[in-house]
Amino acid sequence: MRFADIVLNVPVDRSFTYGIPDGLDVKPYARVTVPFGRRKEPGFIIRIHDEKPSGFETKDIISVIDAEPLFDGRLAKLCRYTADFYVSSFGEALSAALPSGTSDGVREKDFGEYVPRAAESIILTDGQKSALDGILSSKPGSTHLLYGVTGSGKTEVYLSLVRRVIEEGRSALILVPEISLSAHIFLRFREYFGDTLVLYHSGLTPNQRLNNWKKFRSGEAKVAVGTRSSVFMQCPSLGLVVIDEEHDGSYKEHSTPRYNARRIAMQRIKEEGAFLVLGSATPSIETMYAAKSGVMGFHRLEKRYMDTPLPSVEVIAIEGKRDDDVISNELKVAVKRAADNGRQAIFLLNRRGFAPVVMCRSCRKKIECPNCSISMTYHREGMLLCHYCGHSMKEPESCPSCGSSDIAKIGSGTQRIEQIIEKILPSLRVFRLDQDAVRKKDASFNLIDKMKNGEIDILLGTQMVSKGFDFSNVDIVGILLADIGMSLPDFRSSERIFSLITQAAGRCGRSERQGRVIIQTLDPENELIGFIARHDYESFYAREIELRKLAMYPPFARVARFLLRGTDEQKVMEASQSVGAEIKKILSGKPLPVLGPSPAPLAKIGGNYRYHLIVKSRHADVLISLARDVRNFYSKTEPYLEIDIDPFEML
Ligand code: ADP
Ligand code: ZN
Ligand code: ZN
Repeated sequence: MRFADIVLNVPVDRSFTYGIPDGLDVKPYARVTVPFGRRKEPGFIIRIHDEKPSGFETKDIISVIDAEPLFDGRLAKLCRYTADFYVSSFGEALSAALPSGTSDGVREKDFGEYVPRAAESIILTDGQKSALDGILSSKPGSTHLLYGVTGSGKTEVYLSLVRRVIEEGRSALILVPEISLSAHIFLRFREYFGDTLVLYHSGLTPNQRLNNWKKFRSGEAKVAVGTRSSVFMQCPSLGLVVIDEEHDGSYKEHSTPRYNARRIAMQRIKEEGAFLVLGSATPSIETMYAAKSGVMGFHRLEKRYMDTPLPSVEVIAIEGKRDDDVISNELKVAVKRAADNGRQAIFLLNRRGFAPVVMCRSCRKKIECPNCSISMTYHREGMLLCHYCGHSMKEPESCPSCGSSDIAKIGSGTQRIEQIIEKILPSLRVFRLDQDAVRKKDASFNLIDKMKNGEIDILLGTQMVSKGFDFSNVDIVGILLADIGMSLPDFRSSERIFSLITQAAGRCGRSERQGRVIIQTLDPENELIGFIARHDYESFYAREIELRKLAMYPPFARVARFLLRGTDEQKVMEASQSVGAEIKKILSGKPLPVLGPSPAPLAKIGGNYRYHLIVKSRHADVLISLARDVRNFYSKTEPYLEIDIDPFEML
C-alpha cells in the first residue's frame, strides 16, 4: 500500500497521511479530495511513500482533482516561506497561492478583438533607457525601485523589460493594484503581447483562473498581468516580476496568511534568479528607504515624457458649511472653461454614497450600523448602507432614539456631488466611477472609450479615478476634499493621502498642455497639503522618516498586530488580556514595546468587537517567533485571533 502526505486548508501546520487506493494515479503536488472529519476537503499532496503510519487507521484519498500536478517544489518552498513568515499553516498558504477552479471548462477569451502592435516601435527616452540598462545589467535576483513622476513613462520601461525577458525564453509577471485592471497599463500590455498574455484576478471565474494558471505554468503564455495572488503563478523560467504602484495597499492580503505580495516577490526572484522592479511615483516610505540605503537598485525618471511640466497646483480653502460649497468658484470656472475648449476634468472625492452621516437634529444622535461602530451612509433611493459590513436598511422616518422626524443628511459623497454638478453645471456631462457604479462588469472599459471619444466632461469618482488612467485630454483635476482620511489613527495615513492626491493630480496634463490641479481643503496651512502642492516627495519623505524613527515604526522597526474579534465584548476583552499577558511572558527580559490591549480604532465591525495589541521589534525573526508562540498558546476560534505581520493598516 502506498501513502500520501497531504496538507489541507486548515489552521494546523502539519500534514495528514492518507492511503492511495489501488489504481489511483497520483503525483506529488497534485490536488486531491480527501475525507476530513465529516467533510470532504481539497488537499495538496506533498509526499508519496510506503511508510504505513502506526497508531491509527488511515483513510483513503477519494479522488484526484488534477491529473497533472498544478505546481512543483519551487512553489512548495515559496509557500513554506509564506507560512513561516506570516504565521499560517502550509496548507493555508498553498490554498491562498493556487487557483481553486477544478475543471478546465471552455477556454473563454479574456478580452475582445485587438490589433497587436510591434513592440519594436518603442523608442525609449534617455532616462528610460538608462533605467532599462541599469536593471538588465544588474545581478539576477536583485530588486529595483523605478521611481518616476506620474506620466514619466514607467510603463514603457516595463514593456521593454518584458520584451527582453521573452526574447531570452523566460516569462514575466506584472502585478497591478486591484483597480487598474481596466486601466492603461493592462491595455498597453494587451496591445504588445496579445495572445501570449494572460490575466489573473478576482473578476475571472475560478475555472478561468485555473486555465490561465496552466497556460502560464506551461509556458504557452509568457506574460501574466494580475493582482496580488498572481505573485505565486508558476512558469518554466521566471525572468521578471514588476509590481506597479508598489505603494498600493491592495498588495497586502486581508486573510490568513496576511502576506504582502512585495515581500513574496522579493523572496521568489532570489530563488529563481529573476529581476524585481517596483514602480511608483510615490514609493512607500519603506521602499524609498531601502533604495536610498542601497539595498535595492534605484532608478529615477525625473521628467514627464516629452518634458511636459507637472501640473500647476492651487490650494483653495473651503468652509464646508453648506452643501453646494463643495465646488469652489475657482474649480467651477476652470472646469467650465476646459469643457468649452473641448477638454476634460477629473474630480476626486474619496467617499462614495450620497451623504456619509445621517443625524437627528433634535437629539444629535447619528444613525450607526447595528453591527459596526460607524455611521451609516445615505445612498440614493432612501437607503442607508454600512460601508464596512454591507448592512443596509431603509432610511427611518423618525429618529430611532427620540422619535423626531427632523433627520439630516450631512456631508457629501460622490452621488451627491454628481447631483450638485448637474445643478450648477447643467450643460456638462458627468460620469461617476465608484464601487456602486462599477457593479456592472465592463463599466470601466466602457468609461475608457467614452473618455477617449470626448463623451464625458467630468469624470467624478473615488480613489478609482486616481490610479493608472492615461487620458491625454484631461486639463483639470479637482480634489474636492483633501482632508478625508487625514486624522485616521494609523501611522501610514499621511503616506496614503500623499500618494492618493499625487496620483490623482498626475492624471492631468499628460500630453503637450500643462495640467491644472485645484486642491480644496478645510485646512490650507496643513504641511502635508503643502508637500503635495509643491510636488515635493523628497521633503515629505524627509519629514515622514523622522516621525517613523521617533515613533519606531517601519522601516525602523517591524510591527506585529494581534487582533481578537468576537461577538461578546467581555470575552474579546478577556481574551485580549490573556494574549497580552502571554506576550509579556514570552518577551520577558526583552525590552520590546507592547501597545495594548485596547479597542481597535474600528472597535466593532460586522457584529464583531475588536481588541488589539501591537508589538514592535527591529528584527522580523523575533516577531515571527513570538507570533508562533502566541498562535500555539491561543487557538480558540471564538473569540478569534488574527495575527498580522507587517500590517498595512491598523484600524
Ligand atoms: P507613468 O506610468 O510613469 O505614469 P506612462 O507609462 O503612462 O507613465 O507614460 C505616460 C505617457 O507617455 C503615455 O501616454 C505613454 O504612452 C507616453 N510615453 C512614455 N514613454 C514613451 C516613449 N518612449 N515613446 C512613446 N510614448 C511614450
Ligand atoms: Zn433624535
Ligand atoms: Zn456595518
